[in-house]
This record gives sequence, structure tokens and C-alpha cells, in this order.
Amino acid sequence: MSETRVRFAPSPTGYLHVGGARTALYNWLFARHLGGVFILRIEDTDVDRSKPELTTTILESLEWLGLTWDEGPVYQSQRLERYREMAGNLERLGHAYPCFCTQQELQARRAVAEAERRAWKYDGACRALSTGERERRRAEGRPAAIRFRVPDSGQTSFEDQVFGRIEVDHRDIEDFVLVRSDGHPTYHLGVVADDLDLRVTHVIRGADHISNTPKQILMYQAIEAPVPVFAHLPLILGPDKQRLSKRHGATAVGAYRDQGVLPEALVNFLALLGWTPPGQNEIVPLADMIRDFELTAVSKSNAVFDLEKLAWMNSEYVRNLPVERLLPLVEEELRRAGLWREAFAGDERARFENGARLLQSRARSVQDFSQSGGAFFTEGFAYAPEAEKKFWKDTSLRPLLEALADRLAVTEPFDLAATEKTLRGMAEEKGVKAGLLINATRVALTGQAVAPGLFEVMLALGRGRVVARLHRAAEYLRASRP
Ligand code: GLU
Repeated sequence: MSETRVRFAPSPTGYLHVGGARTALYNWLFARHLGGVFILRIEDTDVDRSKPELTTTILESLEWLGLTWDEGPVYQSQRLERYREMAGNLERLGHAYPCFCTQQELQARRAVAEAERRAWKYDGACRALSTGERERRRAEGRPAAIRFRVPDSGQTSFEDQVFGRIEVDHRDIEDFVLVRSDGHPTYHLGVVADDLDLRVTHVIRGADHISNTPKQILMYQAIEAPVPVFAHLPLILGPDKQRLSKRHGATAVGAYRDQGVLPEALVNFLALLGWTPPGQNEIVPLADMIRDFELTAVSKSNAVFDLEKLAWMNSEYVRNLPVERLLPLVEEELRRAGLWREAFAGDERARFENGARLLQSRARSVQDFSQSGGAFFTEGFAYAPEAEKKFWKDTSLRPLLEALADRLAVTEPFDLAATEKTLRGMAEEKGVKAGLLINATRVALTGQAVAPGLFEVMLALGRGRVVARLHRAAEYLRASRP
């Protein structure tokens, strides 16, 4: 059997969108499942809208997701000659012809059709020009586009791996442009020439390309080339069932990275936007995805991009990260947030590692380590207003926090059992509920209403910091409630 070859072909006119990332992932999984080749192609022929720096970000986003390619990137902008050559071949074979209609002429005829309520498609005005007439017009220097000659009758059909059989009547396809009158090749020409030259066996792309497929199949047939297998992927909608757009939140892969989403969580989430793995588990390790991925298990129903589900998945991944992956990620996050100190690599390594491990059990995103978890790494943390409101209401707290500081300063040994005994013993002595003191102390030590177990937090911070923070909180209460 011949080798399976697939490609992902983004246009660098924007960042890598989550929909594009899903397309890339499905191609990648398909290739890895079959031991095939995953090719990256950059469709940068739109000179006005393509930007090299966007290509760079697309490559970075793919690498961040781990979607490494085996061949390419192939840049379409470097293959313009090849496209023109292919258009020339199609013309020589009688499958394409020059069209001299100007924009104004086309617009005028279109307006007439619309006024008469006729659906407009190119009316074939230049289809039947004689060879002599064509040559005369060319000799006059009149600019010409090259159009593909769609057969007058019949249908083109294909067996889409996801959507099933699709058939289109040739009467419904216009003679589409291959090369514009300024010499620029169109999308259809570039795609077919490339997929042919790259020996692509399966074209896996978004459902928005379904209507392009019959045109591209006609081109393969015209040059008697083998037609690849097509699989179109369902659209991705927002929770309101409208097509996913910025209105629904971030759409760029890079934005999720900046929000503290792990690449493995995003990959898992994207994989399930249209594909149901056997067993229907939600958390699917990459190796299982590669083992089980099948185009036939992709649904044609639209997929819904559910941010809450992504957040949940991300927290699952963050909480289960192996420590050797966790620590560099937390370091990167602390650097990004300006909280990294060189001591965390030296004298204070244990403090850094303990903080990271303790926070991991509750983290929902990588950002939690610098935000809600900031107090584990810096003294410059603030008290979250909702935590203050909830747990610092009681007016008797200030002297209690001070007394606790004094007792913890001399608690021996400063371990889990002894610190807990000190706190509970003091609560009993003073006739307050231990919970009141635990909650108030948690806010004093972490700034948060929710944090890992209080006595573990104390040990992670160390006696000196615990005592200082209790005094700081008492001072804050004095100043804010005279
Ligand atoms: N460049 C096209 C896009 O970004 C993809 C074309 C294709 O996959 O055939 O939508």
C-alpha cells in the first residue's frame, strides 16, 4: 500500500485559530495513526493579507501544541511559476481558456442578472471565442484571466469520509478563475498543484471547503491525476450555536497559552471537537488518541466550543502533571509574572518546589501559580477582597492573629502536628471556633479564601514568614478598621 500523506495548509492572514489547530491536529493524528507523513504548507499567495510574522506565530503555535511536521513548510509564494505552468497545461488541453471580461463588464452583467432575480454565475462570454479572436485580443495586450472550463452537463460526486456522498451538478458550478488577469494564481490552482506535487493522499480540512471540492476534483480529472480522499471536519460553534468568533472569547491558540492553558489540555479538548474516541472518555492520553483516531468516527454535526469544559480539562492536566514538567512550567510562569527570584534555583529551591507542589493540587491553570498562588513566592501579595469580606469580618480577629503569631514563633518543632495543636489549643483557650481562626489565618498567609491545607501552607512558607504575615495582617486590620 502506498504511503499516507496529509497536509495542513494555513493562510498566514491571522493567528492560528482554534479551528485551524483542530484541523492540524486531526491531520497529525491521522498521519501518526497510519505511520504516514504530515506536511505543512503555508498558503501565502495573498500578498496584501499574508504577513511573514504571522507565519512565525503559526509555526510557534503548532510547535507549542506538539504538532510537529515531517515535511515543509512549503511556501506557496515560492511556487507561482509552477501554478502558471499548470494553468498553461490545462489551457493547452482545452480545459481552461482566457477570459477578457473586465471587472466593470462582469459587474454590469451581474447587476442585470440580479435585477432579473437570476442567480449569477459567470455567463461564459469568453468560453467560445475562436483561437483567432483570442490571439487577436492577446496581441492587443488586453489582460486576461484564465478560467477553468466546467463541463456543460453531468455531475461531480465524491465520498466524503465524514459527510458521506456529496454530488454537485455541473450547471451549478461556474467557470472559476485559475489565474487572475494580474497573473496571480487563485486558491484552487495552488491547492491542486500542491496537493498533486506533494502526493497528498487525504485532504482533511474544515467543512467550509466542501463547496470547493468539486471544482478541485474537476481539475484532477482534467489532467488525469489521481483524486485524493476528502474528509471535511464539522464547523466549530460558540455556546450560542453561532460560528465561533471573537465574540465568544479568545480564538487564537496563543491566547490560550497566555491564559495558562497547557498544550496537552488544549490538544485533548480540540481532539474531542468532532471526534468521539472509543470508550467515550473525556481525558484521553495522546498515545491513545494516536492509537484510536479514525476519520470515520468524526461526526458531521457541528461541534460546540465549551470554555468551561476546557477549563475543567486544563485543571485535570495541571493537577496530574509529573513534577519534572510542573517545575519548569511554574518557573516560566513566575518569570512571566515578574515573581521569579534567582534564589529559587539556589538556596530557596525547596521553598519553590514545595510551593509549586502544594498549589498543584488545586490549580486550574498555570496562571494560578502566579496569581492566586502568588503568596507562595513573594511577600508582595494582596488580600483578595472577597476573602477579606468573608473571613475577616469578626472584630476580635486582630488580637487573635497577634497572639497566634507569638505562639507559633515558639512552637517546637514547627511541623504539621505541632502547628495545628498550637492553633486549636489557642482557639479553645480563647473560646473561639477553630474554623474562624483557620480561615482568618489562611487569608493572612495566602491572601486567598481558598488555598491548600493551612498547616501544609505554614510549613511551605516556614516559621519566619508565617509569623511576619500574621503580624502584617493584624497591622492591616488595625489600619483599615480604626
Ligand atoms: N488555506 C486554506 C485555509 O486556511 C486551506 C485550504 C485547504 O485546506 O485546501 O482555509
